[in-house]
Amino acid sequence: MTLISGSQVAEKVLAECQRGIAALKARGVTPGLAVVLVGDDPASRAYVRSKDKKCRDLGLYSVKLELPATTTQQELLDVVAKLNADPAIHGILVQSPPPKHIDEAAIVRAIDPAKDVDGFHPVNVAKLALEDPTGFVPCTPLGCQRLLIDAGIETKGAHAVVIGRSMIVGKPMAMLLMAKGPGGDATVTVAHSRTRDLAAITREADIIIAAIGRPSFVKAEHVKQGAVVIDVGINRVEDLGSEKGYKLVGDVAFDEVAPKCRAITPVPGGVGPMTIAMLMANTVKACQQSLG
Ligand code: NDP
Repeated sequence: MTLISGSQVAEKVLAECQRGIAALKARGVTPGLAVVLVGDDPASRAYVRSKDKKCRDLGLYSVKLELPATTTQQELLDVVAKLNADPAIHGILVQSPPPKHIDEAAIVRAIDPAKDVDGFHPVNVAKLALEDPTGFVPCTPLGCQRLLIDAGIETKGAHAVVIGRSMIVGKPMAMLLMAKGPGGDATVTVAHSRTRDLAAITREADIIIAAIGRPSFVKAEHVKQGAVVIDVGINRVEDLGSEKGYKLVGDVAFDEVAPKCRAITPVPGGVGPMTIAMLMANTVKACQQSLG
């Protein structure tokens, strides 16, 4: 069994970003990322902090805008419009989830698609479906695909089962796996909460991508011998023995599934570090594309 280290592959992606940033700086441009946080959700705050730190470590220009939970829809639209017009900003990300009174879809639609480094704008969703390489692909599934490629997992002709159909992970993941080319050309099945006899379907899979949001949901009975498992899940479960009182576990019951696998990602240290690395990569790409 091979443990696919997201931390290691992420380092590689970040080193590529560094080379891209150096080349852009030589042309007099520094890629800029703006991360907007509305409200004070602690998990979102932590994500925003780590994105900001990673930008600074890499030498990207980083703007962190922390707005109060009382920010109105119009005020947020105005912030987005300002960032759209700012030539120093090449990527814009509005941290999800915003407070309930904000129409998130409308905010995403207001972001200039050329700066939509999260890949959630309808233009970028369409570009993914169209296999247009100028589009931005959501960072988590893009990171999963990169993990498969770097681990030397052949996706061509493989049966990949994606569990989950969200716009953030499951759906774009399925599109990437079925697209033509490296990391694609798979035969893809998408499963979700209404799927009948999930285990019978996942047991047919050469590759399983688990993006469910339920701790340790995928068990040994779901997995055939020799399968590759990518665990997207990040779930907090109580752990009274730890300092924080909780620990992070994936959507896969790692201890019982790993022995059956040809390769598997751990949690933490698997898909998580890839997501932020791909955000940096998308920001560098946005900057490169802005120069024509
Ligand atoms: P969502 O809640 O948006 O989607 C979960 C999907 O799982 C849905 O499509 C749902 O089906 C499906 N599902 C739920 N229960 C079952 C079930 N019993 N059987 C089969 N399918 C089921 O979550 P996300 O896609 O946003 O995230 C998924 C996981 O990935 C979470 O743990 C999240 O924390 C993690 N995540 C990790 C990231 C990272 O950087 N590593 C980034 C983003 C997410 P239905 O559509 O029918 O409701």
